[in-house]
Amino acid sequence: MSEHQDGIRRRNPRRERDGRRTSSVVEPAPSVQAAQSEAAAGAAPRIDPRLRRRERQAAEPASTGVSVRAGDVTRIDQSSHYVLMVPDLERGRLSPADRITLGAARMLADADGGAVVLALMLASDEMLADDAGRAGVDRVVELRDAAFAAYDPQARAAAAVAIAEMISARHIVLSETRSQGGDLARRIAAALGGGLAVGVVRMTNASVTSVIDAGRREAIGPAPRVVAIDTAIFPAASAIQAREARPLAPPPVTLRSAIRDEGLVPMDPRTLPLAEAELVLSAGDGVTDWDAFHALAAALPAAEAGSRVVCDAGHLPRSRQVGASGTIVSAQCYIAAGISGSPQHLHGIADCRTVIAVNTDLHAAMVARAELAIIADAQAVMPALTKLVEERRHAR
Ligand SMILES: Cc1cc2nc3c(=O)[nH]c(=O)nc-3n(C[C@H](O)[C@H](O)[C@H](O)COP(=O)(O)OP(=O)(O)OC[C@H]3O[C@@H](n4cnc5c(N)ncnc54)[C@H](O)[C@@H]3O)c2cc1C
Repeated sequence: MSEHQDGIRRRNPRRERDGRRTSSVVEPAPSVQAAQSEAAAGAAPRIDPRLRRRERQAAEPASTGVSVRAGDVTRIDQSSHYVLMVPDLERGRLSPADRITLGAARMLADADGGAVVLALMLASDEMLADDAGRAGVDRVVELRDAAFAAYDPQARAAAAVAIAEMISARHIVLSETRSQGGDLARRIAAALGGGLAVGVVRMTNASVTSVIDAGRREAIGPAPRVVAIDTAIFPAASAIQAREARPLAPPPVTLRSAIRDEGLVPMDPRTLPLAEAELVLSAGDGVTDWDAFHALAAALPAAEAGSRVVCDAGHLPRSRQVGASGTIVSAQCYIAAGISGSPQHLHGIADCRTVIAVNTDLHAAMVARAELAIIADAQAVMPALTKLVEERRHAR
């Protein structure tokens, strides 16, 4: 059986054992072409001195063997190829969409002994707040530039292309997000060639499936060079093993851009794809006052979601369904109003940091899952919360 059929990662102990015994091709050394061409052009690469140290570490001879497990961490000493993952990053953190996309990158890498490389583009004073290794990253290439402090897809695409060329990435994987990844994927594909699949909703060892033609048809084919994942639909990996996140020296690249960032325009979070939302207000069959539900979502503001029952009943569109057969969310805060907490629904919120349950039943499974529970009628709690939020906002 395929290890990743239907996008669900299943462990295959025999294959893992065999993998540890087998020797593999030598890890491709980063190309020095970019450095030479920069030097020839007289451009001054901006390289953090810490990266010099990392460069020396990266240049150390690789030991033999493909994949080693040390404690809980799986280490790939020699990879057959690289899959580059370019994250959106939100305030220095991997976004929920980034984590789903990392799962897709892992599938492409794991199919035949490859390694996942994270392209970390940070502003001068920015730090990655997450543990890249725990998120499933084998290698990290860190580039620092003032251009990354602003919205600058030209600079980001140029940096991603430089990294992809340095490591001869077989695939470059991004989230099909409106904030960053969707735009970047198209720019990178145009610069590199080798094809582009957008709106990818499923993946197996042999193919990727994209939704095309305004959602009316699906296109299935082998994974092209650049793959943009529709993180609202693509299934999140059920378990990601911790990896080494070994630093690789960055390519020397000088970034120039014609784009001027005029600042962010606030977006209506109610229309945000669920997988990207940080605050979600979700309704179950216990919600009957839909005006109060929409008013609270607007006041917070929060992305709207619901259980399968309310989507089946047509109160919310199918794209808003949370759960095993809907979208997996990993919001900072998930407010579940009138949702019982069936196993299928709980599967969809396993990664949410804080769950608040509003339910009349003290013994509901959602109440047991929640960090905070309000045992009351959702129809009374929702307008009360809306009033509170608006009063606090006006008081500021
Ligand atoms: C193959 C399969 C896949 C599925 N996939 C999904 C999925 O992806 N997502 C999903 O959600 N479900 C899924 N389901 C359905 C799932 O099993 C449950 O039926 C569903 O989650 C229940 O939705 P609910 O909690 O809104 O409704 P109910 O189970 O009816 O719960 C309603 C809750 O509201 C509370 N309540 C009632 N009145 C009030 C009130 N006035 N104020 C506050 N609380 C109140 C009740 O105490 C109860 O806890 C799937 C089922 C199958 C078989």
